[in-house]
Amino acid sequence: MNESGAVQTVDATVIGAGQAGLSAAYFLRRAGLLPGADFVVLDHSPGPGGAWQYRWPTLTYGKAHGVHELPGMPLEDGDPDRPSAEVVGGYFARYEEAFGLRVRRPVDVTAVREDAAGRLRVESSAGTWSTRVLLNATGTWDRPFLPYYPGQETFLGRQLHTAGYRGAAEFAGKHVVVVGGGTSAVQLLMELAEVARTTWVTRRPPVFRSVPFNEEWGRSAVARVDERVRQGLPPQSVVSVTGLAATEAVRDAQARGILRREPMFDRITPHGVAWADGRELEADVILWATGFRAALDHLAPLRLREPGGGIRMDGTRVVKDPRVHLLGYGPSASTIGANRAGRAAVREVRRLLDGTRDDAREPVALAAPAG
Ligand SMILES: Cc1cc2nc3c(=O)[nH]c(=O)nc-3n(C[C@H](O)[C@H](O)[C@H](O)COP(=O)(O)OP(=O)(O)OC[C@H]3O[C@@H](n4cnc5c(N)ncnc54)[C@H](O)[C@@H]3O)c2cc1C
Repeated sequence: MNESGAVQTVDATVIGAGQAGLSAAYFLRRAGLLPGADFVVLDHSPGPGGAWQYRWPTLTYGKAHGVHELPGMPLEDGDPDRPSAEVVGGYFARYEEAFGLRVRRPVDVTAVREDAAGRLRVESSAGTWSTRVLLNATGTWDRPFLPYYPGQETFLGRQLHTAGYRGAAEFAGKHVVVVGGGTSAVQLLMELAEVARTTWVTRRPPVFRSVPFNEEWGRSAVARVDERVRQGLPPQSVVSVTGLAATEAVRDAQARGILRREPMFDRITPHGVAWADGRELEADVILWATGFRAALDHLAPLRLREPGGGIRMDGTRVVKDPRVHLLGYGPSASTIGANRAGRAAVREVRRLLDGTRDDAREPVALAAPAG
């Protein structure tokens, strides 16, 4: 039921209005589906921007890895010194407006389940939708991953995940142990080292890649992640496939000793961390830069998971249930991948909605307004 008490019936439901969800909404509109009537976009965040609205303020647009534009509208005035949260949030807001995507927010989708009529029932904080197909684009930000180490609960200092990091200033003069081998760990170490003492610990020695990332390399990295999700295994982190970018700033930090890495500690003590060889280190803060997992709990009633722990995929389509597409999952977990996933999913979804007639609906010409 929606707020008026009735179950609202739509052809397609998009959950999540980040890069992947907005791309899907754009292609649904272009395929002739009407926003708000034929399809609905639901998002539980307070404003536009997907997960970008939560990124720490010191992650300026210039420091982001490379944010690909959404389909059909350029990102102009991307001031490199402004926080990514503002730049991307503003761009997404203009995008939603320009294409009339009518994103419903804040709407928290709590469960998706099969209904009696062979449709999918989308239950949310704002009521229920009955949909023929589901384009799930819920990203990872809502599921920060924190590994467990013995003694973790005894630590008297502060523990936080990157999702809760708001800048280095509050750590001035402290000793911060940064855990994790990804891009976020490297960026935060470089920021923190300006005001704090830092120690970097990772499970495996980090691999820095000095060769510039080119298209071919990107394609082969995506293919490796794709191979895993085709087998129903959980997706790997992107860095485990691509390595870390050895930018000029990174090389400078290496030269200054900021990126000297220690092996992973074995336990946490009330005052710091300790290794099996008896070495102990006192610390005020443990910052877990240990990544995120796909936020898919609301899909649990559909039982999509394989024994391997992942969801077996064919492109964006879930093999167990072809009505369900996952966008921004596995190989499409990048801004460019999310765009492509939106396009590919809508192409398949149209076939499902229109039978085999690809041209059953007239494509709609969409143009972004100037400026
Ligand atoms: C720190 C950091 C920096 C990154 N930098 C880059 C970069 O520079 N370039 C790049 O290509 N990629 C980058 N990435 C990866 C990036 O997150 C993705 O590329 C892309 O932005 C993700 O888009 P998305 O649409 O899949 O997910 P998100 O942007 O996370 O959007 C998901 C949306 O779904 C909503 N949602 C989730 N669960 C529910 C629910 N149950 N009900 C309703 N709504 C829900 C959320 O509120 C959110 O708005 C970065 C990731 C991180 C963590």
